[in-house]
Amino acid sequence: MRMYDLIQKKKEGKALTAKEIAFFVRGFTFGSVPDYQASAFLMAVCFCGMTDEETAILTEEMMRSGDVLDLSRFGDRSVDKHSTGGVGDKTTLIAIPIAAACGAVVAKMTGRGLGHTGGTMDKMESVSGMKTTLSPETFYENAEKIGICVVGQNKNLAPADGKMYALRDVTATVDSIPLIAASIMSKKLAAGAQNIVLDVKCGRGAFMKTPEDAETLARAMVAIGTRLGRRVRAVITDMDTPLGCYIGNALEVKEAVEVLGGGGDERLRNIALELSSHMLSLSLGISVEEGRCRAENALDTGAAFSKMKEWFSAQGGDVRMLDEPSLLPASKEQILITAEEDGFLAEMNALLVGTAAGALGAGRKTKEDEIDHGAGIHLLRHCGDYVKKGEAIARLYASDEEKLAEGKRIFLSALRYEKKEPSVPPLIYKVIK
Ligand code: URA
Repeated sequence: MRMYDLIQKKKEGKALTAKEIAFFVRGFTFGSVPDYQASAFLMAVCFCGMTDEETAILTEEMMRSGDVLDLSRFGDRSVDKHSTGGVGDKTTLIAIPIAAACGAVVAKMTGRGLGHTGGTMDKMESVSGMKTTLSPETFYENAEKIGICVVGQNKNLAPADGKMYALRDVTATVDSIPLIAASIMSKKLAAGAQNIVLDVKCGRGAFMKTPEDAETLARAMVAIGTRLGRRVRAVITDMDTPLGCYIGNALEVKEAVEVLGGGGDERLRNIALELSSHMLSLSLGISVEEGRCRAENALDTGAAFSKMKEWFSAQGGDVRMLDEPSLLPASKEQILITAEEDGFLAEMNALLVGTAAGALGAGRKTKEDEIDHGAGIHLLRHCGDYVKKGEAIARLYASDEEKLAEGKRIFLSALRYEKKEPSVPPLIYKVIK
C-alpha cells in the first residue's frame, strides 16, 4: 500500500477501506508516513469529508494507538462528561459531584485550558494541594470508594490524536467535522467509560459557531460512540456569551461551590442539572426526568457538595478552601469596568471575554506559561441587561497593572450596546441521542 494512492483516492472523494485508514493512522503514529503526506491527506479529508463508517474506523484506530482504560469493574455505572470548550464553563465541577452523589461513577481524564477556553485541570489545581497525577491504583481505588476521580490526561491516551492535532493546528486542517469528531471521541473512548455525555458548545466562544454546525458535530460523535458500543448523548448549549458570573480558575471554583451550595447563577445551575440528568439517565438506566429529580435532590440536600469535598480531599486538596472560598487564591490588583453608554448589553462576546481573561493571567500564551489561578473576571451584568452609563459591569483581577490594562482593553471590545432590547440566545438548543 502507498500513502500516495490513499491521498489520491480521498482527493477524488472516494471512501477508504478499514485497511487503508489503519495504514495511515499506524504509519503516521509510528513515523513511516511523513508529515507532508499526512498533511495532504488531512487536507483532502477537509475538502471531501468521510462517511460515518470511515469516521468510526478512523476513531477506533486512533483510540487503539495507545492505552485504553478498562472501567468494566464499574459495569454500566461509569460515565464521562466532555465539553467541546467554553468560557466560564465550570459545569464539570458541578455535574460530576451531582452524578456521583446519585450513584454514578466518574473516573475521568481532563485537560488544561486551550486558547481562550478554560480547562478543568487548571481549575482543580487552584485549590492548594490538589493532585492531578495519581497512580493507576489510587485512580481506581478513589473511583470505587468515592465515585469520582479526575486526573490529567495520560500522554499515552490516543497518541495518534496528539500527533495529528499538532499537525492540523499548523496546516489549517482543524475545522473538519470528521476530524474533530474522531479526535474528541478517540480520547473519550480510550478513557473507557460506558456512557458519555457531550456538551457541544455553539456560538462565538465555541469551535462551532452555529447551532447547525454544532448539531452536525454532535450527531457525528453520537454515531461514532454508538457504533463502538457506548451509550452517548450530546447536549447542544450556548457559548455566544460566557457561562455564569466568573471566568478564571479560582473564581470558577468559587462559583461551582456557590451552585453546589444551592445558590449561584441560574443559567449555570440549569446547564449543570441538564448534563447531570443525562449522566444519571444513561448510567443508572432511568428517564431523564427521574435523573433531573435525583440531581436536584442531590443539590438541595447538600449531598453533591459533600461529594465534591470528598473528591478534593481524596486527591490532596485543601477542602477548607471549598468551605471558605475567600481562602482561594485571589490576584491583588483589580479594576471595575463601567458601562460606556446607556442601553441594553446586546453583546458580550465569549471569545473576546475569554481572551481578556487569558490576558489577565487566567490562561497561557505558550504551553510552558505559569497560570495565575487568582486572575479573571467577575461579571456583574449579563447579555440582555439594561445598563446606565457609569454603572458597574464587571470587575477584573490580575497580578499587575499592565495585565489589568490589557485585559480591560480586550474586555471593553467584547461589549456592544443597543437601544432596543436584544434577543438573547437560548441556553440549551437540542439534545441528540
Ligand atoms: N478538541 C479536540 O480534542 N480535537 C479537535 O479536533 C477539536 C477540539
